Amino acid sequence: MNLDLRMDLADCGSPERLLEVLLRYYPDLPRRVPVETIAADVGIIEFKTLEVEGFIGGLLADPEKNQGIILTKDGLSAKRKRYTQGHELGHFLIPSHGYQRQCRKEDLEENSRTTTYQQQEAEANRFSAGFLMPKPIFVKDMGALGSVEVTHVRQLSDLYEVSMEASANRYAELTPDNCAFIFSRDGIVRYGRASRSFPRLAMRKGTPLPQNCLTRRFNQTGTHSAWAEQHGGAWIEIETGVRAPTILEQVVCQSNGFKVTLLYIDEAEEEDREEYDGLAERWNARLR
Ligand SMILES: [Zn+2]
Repeated sequence: MNLDLRMDLADCGSPERLLEVLLRYYPDLPRRVPVETIAADVGIIEFKTLEVEGFIGGLLADPEKNQGIILTKDGLSAKRKRYTQGHELGHFLIPSHGYQRQCRKEDLEENSRTTTYQQQEAEANRFSAGFLMPKPIFVKDMGALGSVEVTHVRQLSDLYEVSMEASANRYAELTPDNCAFIFSRDGIVRYGRASRSFPRLAMRKGTPLPQNCLTRRFNQTGTHSAWAEQHGGAWIEIETGVRAPTILEQVVCQSNGFKVTLLYIDEAEEEDREEYDGLAERWNARLR
């Protein structure tokens, strides 16, 4: 265990502060962050298999959280296991999270702050994402790949050895592009994540995907589609009297009915269209 590091981390209450200190200690981390090695440096003494039905990850520590054991469900893919370990490490290092924890699948997707419990799960997720995909290098890699494509998200997921879902979430959080990801299973929305500039998504958890969307039609498991153009009203909330933007849609078909949909609004195209609409309107006014 690295005692100096532990001392410095003890003063940090938020995932962001913890990550700042951690990344300063390990300035030359490879993209595939060695989760278990670093966890061992900060007090995790063992990694074990969790055998409680319904749970994906867990933390067992002494009340002072000097030492801990991280548990993960048997049979998780390497990518999901890494993310779960990062999540539990977050619970271990954030002082207010207590010393024993069992986390379900929904907890590993949490990003709301409605209850204290949800807020803590969201913090553990922010920690895991920031730990496995450090912001400066992820932003650089994202930029080098160019304008958003669903294949880029897959490339990043391989590069950082995280699930496509985790890399898509991080992508939405950090991209300057106007895009969103919709995670669905068997035609039902699991949840959506939008970039900062993207309009408000119209669908909620548990609702069916829009009729006629490409995601419903595209069913080639293990592959991704080309872009399809669609009226924005299918995906986003449009205020009355406001012109709906055109949304470009691309989808990756994963196994077991899981799909990741990428929605993109091309700002430059939209400006051209608005200009054209304005011109057409002025002409019509003149002709009337
Ligand atoms: Zn948790």
